[in-house]
Amino acid sequence: MPPSVTAAEIEKAIRNVPDFPKPGIQFKDITPVLADARLFAGTIDLLTQKFKPGDVDAVIGIDARGFIFAAAAATKLHAGFVPVRKKGKLPYTTIEEDYALEYGNSTVAMHIDALKPGAKVLLVDDLLATGGTAAAAISLVKKLGGQILEVGFVIELKFLNGRTKLHDLPVRSLVSY
Ligand code: AMP
Repeated sequence: MPPSVTAAEIEKAIRNVPDFPKPGIQFKDITPVLADARLFAGTIDLLTQKFKPGDVDAVIGIDARGFIFAAAAATKLHAGFVPVRKKGKLPYTTIEEDYALEYGNSTVAMHIDALKPGAKVLLVDDLLATGGTAAAAISLVKKLGGQILEVGFVIELKFLNGRTKLHDLPVRSLVSY
């Protein structure tokens, strides 16, 4: 079945919030997309467009808004869901990756047994900005021997050139600014 919504409809629903969480940042608020049943389902259809059940072993979601889209994509593709979380949140043994933020550093983590070597993986987050977060998540998947088929984002801030950090992997984004 073709996706039931267009990227233009999703773009129209995304709310731009100026100066959040700090002055100069325009926050892309996806909660109006989530609150609309048709737009939410259609967003998942578009994000998973290339795949059918059986193609993907695990959908990896990045803390925290990435979880929402990745978990829905996982059930649609009959795949498992794996969280990449900020350091200190996961209860079991983790592997970790540091990455640079605009000011300072951050660390993401994944459970050490989250993926089987060779697992076919789709990585999902709500938004690609500088690419630092997604690049760190990709490193974690690679450390566990996962094979990334595609990296999907609802939104891409193209002017930040985040794609250049994503190891030449196939990238899908639905709405670009
Ligand atoms: P980056 O590591 O720079 O690609 O940042 C990506 C992460 O930061 C994503 O998980 C987004 O949720 C969040 N993010 C960065 N910029 C924005 C923005 N303008 N609006 C909403 N979320 C953002």
